[in-house]
Amino acid sequence: MKSESASERIRVLGFRRWYERQLIEGHLWLASCFVAMIAVAAGMELLTLEGGVREFLTDALLIAGGCVAGWLSWRRYAWTMLRAEAIGEQAVCGGCRHYGFRCCGVDGGRMRARCPKCSHEWLIDEPVPGPR
Ligand SMILES: [Zn+2]
Repeated sequence: MKSESASERIRVLGFRRWYERQLIEGHLWLASCFVAMIAVAAGMELLTLEGGVREFLTDALLIAGGCVAGWLSWRRYAWTMLRAEAIGEQAVCGGCRHYGFRCCGVDGGRMRARCPKCSHEWLIDEPVPGPR
């Protein structure tokens, strides 16, 4: 999957649609974290040596895989929500208090935002990139 910066995605989608997708994506990561926790719990429930070493290793692998998937999903959820919140907090126009903006480029690593109502321009900082 090609990785794009938030400014590129906002330029294509517009801020409000990008923000909405970030919330959906974040909650899908949270749901996958929950599924991974269920896999860990199921693995713990099934873990026993009574069925032989092969079954034990399968259950242990389910637990380990669930832990890794859960941790990665949680990190991705946290990063997605943090980024959406950080950019969302800066989305209010200083000129007319309108919420939302159009991305009109990148200036020194900061996103250049323009108000669709009054054409006021300001710079938006993206948080430091997190896990992918
Ligand atoms: Zn404005």
